[in-house]
Amino acid sequence: MTLPQQPPIPMSSPDLTEAERQAVAEVLNTPILSMGRHVRAFEQAFCDLTGAKHAIAVNSGTAGLHLCVRAAGIGAGDLVITTPFSFVASTNVLLFENAIPVFVDVDPRTGNIDPELVKDAVENIEKYLPRRGMDSDVSRHRAPDVKRRRTPKAILPVDVFGQPADMDPILAVAEEYGLTVIEDSCEALGAAYKGRPAGRLGDFGIFAFYPNKQITTGEGGLIVTDDDRAADLMRALRNQGRAPGDTWLQHTHLGYNYRLDEMSAALGAVQMSRLGELLAKREQVAAWYEARLSEIPGVETPVVEPFTTRMSWFVYVVRFDPSIDRDDLARRLTALGIPVRPYFAPIHLQPYMVERFGCQPGDFPVTEDLGRRGLALPFSGVMHEEQVETVCQAIRESLQNA
Ligand SMILES: *Cc1c(COP(=O)(O)O)cnc(C)c1O
Repeated sequence: MTLPQQPPIPMSSPDLTEAERQAVAEVLNTPILSMGRHVRAFEQAFCDLTGAKHAIAVNSGTAGLHLCVRAAGIGAGDLVITTPFSFVASTNVLLFENAIPVFVDVDPRTGNIDPELVKDAVENIEKYLPRRGMDSDVSRHRAPDVKRRRTPKAILPVDVFGQPADMDPILAVAEEYGLTVIEDSCEALGAAYKGRPAGRLGDFGIFAFYPNKQITTGEGGLIVTDDDRAADLMRALRNQGRAPGDTWLQHTHLGYNYRLDEMSAALGAVQMSRLGELLAKREQVAAWYEARLSEIPGVETPVVEPFTTRMSWFVYVVRFDPSIDRDDLARRLTALGIPVRPYFAPIHLQPYMVERFGCQPGDFPVTEDLGRRGLALPFSGVMHEEQVETVCQAIRESLQNA
């Protein structure tokens, strides 16, 4: 006799109901599939949630980050202080504009950019510049005085795994030196830092809606800002560079097609109306994991800092004691049908970063340590307690047999 098979546990899963399916179907019964009222309603939901003056929906989080880089006037050769412990998009958008990412290492507790290193990098930028890649073709056309003391133009912190970066000291140094702050909140929709909403701490905040995020539109992203001029520019740039007053074939700017479609926006609006429920379910799943995994020697569960007044669980990443072979454990779990993922692979060690900037192992030891010891476990708001128990039991057994 064979026992009934449990369905496999997915790495992540969207949380969708009949309401989402109906909202999309209703759009499909109209002729307006782009540039209609659903995008505006979706944007309004973000103004209501975060208190932002402007919300600009786009078709990915990466597109949103890129528009912020453009709106901040970050261009060839400009220095931007950011973190190597992130999803690659937060650095790639700088490279799109031939800007130079100036990495600083992260806080070992949260994996978020270390505010003291940010301050030191602003004040002693030479210490933090990449080994090479500063004299790209484009930046060579800039000021000939290469010895000129360079100052960074912006700071780009990332709210890693759903927890805001420690922003107050970062904002203080940005204020002192007149730097733009672009907050990558693509993993932190609904989180709060000292009572303030994630995404609203700097000049620009970006959210993302890929299917593993807290809410999904399939693909999608959104920018929040209070800056009127930047908002106008970003609305133009997402729409092929058409400025207000331009006709369909008039393009004031070099723009992109970064528009979100109406089906996605309608789906997102329903997801936003359920945000409290979605976040509460994810919090419950995280609590089930915490209760079980904190009992297992050698397993470190995520740290939520006191300044995180609302954690918005995006992924559930544990770290193993250095004595445990994380990759071997990951293989054992995969063999048991438990999907897991090393998280993050440090950005500075991606092949194209090594080639362009000469980054080396050892450059950012905390980032690399977290990258070696971290493992994302299956996680979503629709996970059941029995599935969490199955994952935890597989970890217990794999560690015993290691
Ligand atoms: C998800 C994510 C993004 C955006 O990703 P898209 O797939 O372009 O929507 C950007 N930065 C971080 C840190 C992310 O996790």
